[in-house]
Amino acid sequence: MSERREITELLGDGIAEELRQSVRAVAESLPGEHAFDTVDLAYENRRKGARLLYDQAAASMRRTGVGIKYPTATIDESPNAVLRKLLKFSVIHRPVTTIPGLRTMFTGKLDLDIVRVATGGTYDDPGQMIGDYAAASLRVVDRKTCEQAAHYAFSIAARDRKSLTSSSKYTIQRVTDGLFEDIVDEVAKEIAFAGQVEHRRELFDALLAKLVMAPERFQVILVLNEYGDFLSDLASGLIGSLGLGASVSLAFNERGRVTVAMFDAIHGTAPDIAGQDKANPTAILRAFAMLLAHLGDSRNANALRRGLFDCLDAGEATPDLGGKLGTKAFTGAVIGRTAERLKEKAKT
Ligand code: NAD
Repeated sequence: MSERREITELLGDGIAEELRQSVRAVAESLPGEHAFDTVDLAYENRRKGARLLYDQAAASMRRTGVGIKYPTATIDESPNAVLRKLLKFSVIHRPVTTIPGLRTMFTGKLDLDIVRVATGGTYDDPGQMIGDYAAASLRVVDRKTCEQAAHYAFSIAARDRKSLTSSSKYTIQRVTDGLFEDIVDEVAKEIAFAGQVEHRRELFDALLAKLVMAPERFQVILVLNEYGDFLSDLASGLIGSLGLGASVSLAFNERGRVTVAMFDAIHGTAPDIAGQDKANPTAILRAFAMLLAHLGDSRNANALRRGLFDCLDAGEATPDLGGKLGTKAFTGAVIGRTAERLKEKAKT
């Protein structure tokens, strides 16, 4: 692929610099040109001129349409929360896939795309006391964000020929969750390609049990904010670690098209191992593979994803996974195995 791609890169704290070097080394090794527009969101820099920096980060991402964000320390403010507001991210997509070679308590195989409405539910209102003996909070289900999430979930299900399960407590939260499920049904009728997607509803509690008992039945799962939060952690636990996951936050235009996509690792800045060549770049490299796929570069995206899994399957890993490789050596191994996958692809 000879196209030039411009990507916004948001620097962070702790292990962020080591992760960035890993992503840059992988990007340089891949066919095609990947140019980075860098905004430094490290705490020292944020402290000096936070508002301006966030505006700069948002402007760059609006221009390039894609960003990779390294972990940032939450000290005075949460950079993720600020960016979510500025860029109006309304949907979070988190793939959770069994990683070959990783020892887990769970023997089933997961290959899930969790699509979560990023705002609303009970999370926008911490609640308030009613007198001294009770507290209440407002639960919001917003039509527009649900439509955006449903459009996106159906589009990835159609693209990847997967089934879609929408899940909520629509029999109990009849108005709020009922509205969510109605919107999913409306979107299924409205968009032409949704007809190709098998769609079913599951009550959220039953979904959790079925996911553990028969994970192969689930492919794309579409949920409201808090359910998505619980589900992502459960699924990450089943594949063996909360720390290996990648995520994308998405903003949409009026027609439901993605305008900005920001990719990141789920873990934080790991200050305890920063600067020691111990950081595991798996999550951020998975995020980078998702970014490449989003840009339409499926050849590099698939090769990188498979190269990463090949390494882990062969026991080439960083110390957090019981391996002996430092961040740099592991990155080198990923580059080698990704190149093998690219060669294999070129031959077929
Ligand atoms: P953390 O995820 O940074 O670390 C938890 C544990 O996991 C630590 O022992 C750490 O060494 C380990 N770990 C995390 N990522 C790793 C990696 N890639 N390789 C190897 N080991 C890894 O969580 P924390 O300690 O609770 O948070 C530290 C800082 O990160 C806080 O300031 C928090 O606000 C911030 N944070 C940022 C983000 C983000 O930017 N998206 C997400 C979560 C936490």
